[in-house]
Amino acid sequence: ASLAALDTEVPPTNRVQDRSLPAASAAPEGFANTPDTDPALAPNRVWGSEILSRIPGSTLGAALVADTRVTDLGELNCIVETAVEHSTAWGAQSGAERAAILHRAGEILESRRAELLEVMASETGKTLDQGDPEVSEAIDFAHYYAERAKDLETVDGATFVPARLTVVTPPWNFPVAIPAGSTLSALAAGSAVVIKPAPQAQRSGSVMIQALWDAGVPREVLALVQLGENELGRALVAHPAVDRVILTGGYETAELFRSFRTDLPLLAETSGKNAIIVTPSADLDLAAKDVVQSAFGHAGQKCSAASLVIMVGSVATSHRFRNQLLDAAASLNVGYPETATSQMGPVIEPAAGKLLGALTTLDAGESWAIEPRQLDESGRLWSPGVRTGVAAGSNFHLMEFFGPVLGVMHAATLEEAISMVNAIDYGLTSGLHSLDSAEIGLWLDTIQAGNLYVNRGITGAIVQRQPFGGWKKSAVGAGTKAGGPNYLAGLGSWTSAESTA
Ligand code: GLU
Repeated sequence: ASLAALDTEVPPTNRVQDRSLPAASAAPEGFANTPDTDPALAPNRVWGSEILSRIPGSTLGAALVADTRVTDLGELNCIVETAVEHSTAWGAQSGAERAAILHRAGEILESRRAELLEVMASETGKTLDQGDPEVSEAIDFAHYYAERAKDLETVDGATFVPARLTVVTPPWNFPVAIPAGSTLSALAAGSAVVIKPAPQAQRSGSVMIQALWDAGVPREVLALVQLGENELGRALVAHPAVDRVILTGGYETAELFRSFRTDLPLLAETSGKNAIIVTPSADLDLAAKDVVQSAFGHAGQKCSAASLVIMVGSVATSHRFRNQLLDAAASLNVGYPETATSQMGPVIEPAAGKLLGALTTLDAGESWAIEPRQLDESGRLWSPGVRTGVAAGSNFHLMEFFGPVLGVMHAATLEEAISMVNAIDYGLTSGLHSLDSAEIGLWLDTIQAGNLYVNRGITGAIVQRQPFGGWKKSAVGAGTKAGGPNYLAGLGSWTSAESTA
């Protein structure tokens, strides 16, 4: 094995695949009638009033934030029109002028780290060890996109024309870094933004956006709206004035968005079903640690999480790795984030549907190496689960469950393990633990995923070092990776000197 192969970071590949979606389908049943907000939130719907939401079971409470719920179409249209109108002045500034504001936003986010950690913990159950790097990622996005804004204006005689309006629809699971990255990239590229935080994470989104307003982004250029998955949400996404929608969420949500408007300019990072392959040449101690962290960090509620570990050859038969993995998983402290010793927090909603099935039922040939247990009445707190005997082609092999449950598969060879990974429709993150350079080379050449990690956990991409984006059904819409050098260039259009002459 060559020592060079031990280098843990693999350069991003920016591979592009066919990212087309099947024909637009009708909204899933019940979608149109979903109430726009949880009635348990404050009943007051007046602009400028305050709301407080927290995950049931948590005793944390945080500063109240402005209620920016929008309840009628007229109001929504007015916000959209205002943003479009003010985008002209924002986009006409130089990249350096916008960069100064973004750098200031990064500094303000840094100064509010404690508040951001607290609000994420109380609202989404995110433990502090998970929240802290997330705040760092948001700060990195601010400074990184600020610098990239300066490169945008003219490249090889072509001039960048900013989008007028970008709609940002982030997920709840990274309630600060993902909305920050999407919003900051669009602002850096000269576009106005209307952001709709995930309904479960509105306060986290609000505290983050407040930092951007305080840094000098005008409220007309950056509008925060609280909408549920209702007709108003559809009206926003499908609004003809919208030039770009940046979505991070499930593949089904991307499909749904495309059903709203056939020419929707969508840039989406979607679902994942990610595996780490461990070969006999691996540093097994390191592999066990990385698999546990990648599988159970944030209770597995990351698109990037490891949901499968594929043991190759003697790794499967020797039991050493298996025992280490199981010991490490079973020893995780599970609890709400306000308990300092919690290493794994709750799932965001009481486990139900697919996730409850993954936590409680086994398919043919499977057994629990560690059976997940429900730890409190809320249905949110579960101990980690590890199921063995996951067969190629089974539900657990192919489906995303988004929770604290890991499946173990066996492969005779690395080639077989790679084909198990490539049989999955998604291709977001993928990991290899091996100290053999030939194995690493083979894997790098053949594995189908957007983000590849060798001898490292597969979550926690780092801005600039590991630009992040998916392949296959983990991405929808042509685009480059977030946190990478070409991302802003995809957020507007380019006009050549000839065509403007
Ligand atoms: N960027 C995150 C990571 O690298 C994952 C984002 C997601 O779950 O959507 O872990």
